Amino acid sequence: MEKVVTLFSSGMDSTTLLYKSIRDKGKENVFPLLFNYGSKHNKKENKTAYSLLEYLGFKKVPLVEIPILGSFGGSTLTDSNREIPSAKEGQQRTTVVPGRNTIMLAFGISYAESVGATVVEFGACADDYISYPDCREIFIEHMATVAQLGSDRKVLSVEAPFVNLSKIEIVKLGEELSVPWDRTWTCYKGEELACGQCDADVERLQAFEANGIKDPIEYVS
Ligand SMILES: [Zn+2]
Repeated sequence: MEKVVTLFSSGMDSTTLLYKSIRDKGKENVFPLLFNYGSKHNKKENKTAYSLLEYLGFKKVPLVEIPILGSFGGSTLTDSNREIPSAKEGQQRTTVVPGRNTIMLAFGISYAESVGATVVEFGACADDYISYPDCREIFIEHMATVAQLGSDRKVLSVEAPFVNLSKIEIVKLGEELSVPWDRTWTCYKGEELACGQCDADVERLQAFEANGIKDPIEYVS
């Protein structure tokens, strides 16, 4: 069975992807990889991610520490002088962290080479298309080419299995896979409770509502 490196953040997309890969390939062939890129919610999401990974029986999952990206200040996710926008402000583009997926996939490629995996996958989905250029198919295809050109193995690919799925469809798939949504984290603010106002939360809540499911995590009322 092929091995896969799964970039994992504990969000609804990457958690559903992790569960899908465990179902399709077996847990022993799935290698999650976590990141701290200096965002306001990294600490919270990594705590949530490690808790879920422990629940699933994973051991020694690496955390890539690149908080220097935060000090670049190119995004409201990382810049302490700028607020995370609420969804109604229509400013989701300000949450793009420049080069983030290029950098994270490069680490994923390195990890895949090291553990003998043939796939690096991440949870980009159709809803990311408008605001996030590094979640588009053309980018993913070219990262796969980069991965192959930089390796003698010539087998490595970069994939985003949900690139044509909406978040509504991801919640539907997650339900089929019995994803424990109460063990996931989405809010960009990374505080005690999810704010329910940021773009990430609003997309999440809409996806649950469209599936007729109540999101089990607690929000600021
Ligand atoms: Zn939020």
